[in-house]
Amino acid sequence: MRRFDLIIVGGSFAGLACARTAALRGLKVAVVERKRDPGERVRTTGILVKEAAEEMDVPSHLTRLVRGVRLYAPNGKFTDHSSAGYYFLTTDTPNLLRWMADEATRAGAEMLLGAAFKRAEQDADAVTLPDLDLSAGLLVGADGATSAVGRAFGLDANRRFLGGVEFELEPEPALDGRFLHCFLDSELAPGYIAWAAPSVGVTQVGLAARHGVRPDARAFLEVYRKRLGLPERRIVARRSGLIPAGATLAHTHVGRVMLIGDAAGHVSPLTGGGIVQTLRLGRRTAQLAADWINAGGEHPALALAREAPRFRTKLWLRRMLDLAPPNWVWNLALGTAPFRAFAQTIYFHQRGDVAAAPEMPDGGRKTERSP
Ligand SMILES: Cc1cc2nc3c(=O)[nH]c(=O)nc-3n(C[C@H](O)[C@H](O)[C@H](O)COP(=O)(O)OP(=O)(O)OC[C@H]3O[C@@H](n4cnc5c(N)ncnc54)[C@H](O)[C@@H]3O)c2cc1C
Repeated sequence: MRRFDLIIVGGSFAGLACARTAALRGLKVAVVERKRDPGERVRTTGILVKEAAEEMDVPSHLTRLVRGVRLYAPNGKFTDHSSAGYYFLTTDTPNLLRWMADEATRAGAEMLLGAAFKRAEQDADAVTLPDLDLSAGLLVGADGATSAVGRAFGLDANRRFLGGVEFELEPEPALDGRFLHCFLDSELAPGYIAWAAPSVGVTQVGLAARHGVRPDARAFLEVYRKRLGLPERRIVARRSGLIPAGATLAHTHVGRVMLIGDAAGHVSPLTGGGIVQTLRLGRRTAQLAADWINAGGEHPALALAREAPRFRTKLWLRRMLDLAPPNWVWNLALGTAPFRAFAQTIYFHQRGDVAAAPEMPDGGRKTERSP
């Protein structure tokens, strides 16, 4: 039986951010990841909002900077949105995760790849994973939206999800690379949006839909090509996954076991963005765990519960969006001042100050156009 201070189940964004900081702070850390390669079978578009890019110094060759958002109504009309100093980073996500795993290893964490968590037991002193012959003072479940760690210990589980699916296509030079292209369409993507993202060496084209609806990526691919007048491009990969949409869970720890990231519902129920929270709270969990283990600080789960977002307003807005207004409503709304202000707030976290939207590098300012 090998003994660690901290065992993390899940070697993705939350687990790797946690592992690196915990190892740097001197904890003996193991990451249990069922995949043999952290970069295989990626289940995310992997776009970093600016705040996420500020949590981690990602090598620039793994990212592509995108300044604004082009928002399309179902009738093809679009508006452009941006905000001075703001940006998104699309990513070479498989290699970003490999890089994060290397960083965690370099910091001293041990990556146990191809090792699936099945069950564990805990007593007053330790948590034990008998199948893997491991034990630790703290077990962190960073194992995603349908956490096996959460199930094993009877913790709260995500119950509402958005379903997302996307294709990686050969790069599309005709797609305006200054923008994330977001498509409102309640028939194709009820409760959410479809998107085309100029990324690193590929174009990511996908969509998500509210709970219970299966999104049809091929149908959207046709619409995307026709609407933008683009040629057919080869599909090089496919990604899909569930996005928790019920906000932060209440009961996420018991004794020496706690959940973080998607496993704990740390995802915006409105936008489905979770990476920023995984990085912030993953790292924070490691700091709190080190304080708990080395200095008798407060239990990390209690401190983290105070710092995790509640997403109350976003949950309310999620319920509104789940109603999926008919497409004619989107057609009418796009371009109106209240809708512009709303979009500006959602994408750029500011009070819809459209007048402050900057000149885009080559003239994309506040454009509103018909197809
Ligand atoms: C289609 C889609 C698109 C998205 N796009 C974005 C986006 O562009 N930007 C954004 O901010 N967020 C996005 N999200 C959300 C974001 O991907 C998640 O919030 C984020 O990946 C959560 O990270 P995590 O580390 O908590 O969990 P995950 O990334 O789900 O990782 C869980 C890890 O645990 C491992 N694991 C699971 N079970 C076990 C087990 N039993 N034993 C061992 N290992 C196990 C898995 O293999 C995986 O590596 C998207 C989600 C989806 C589904």
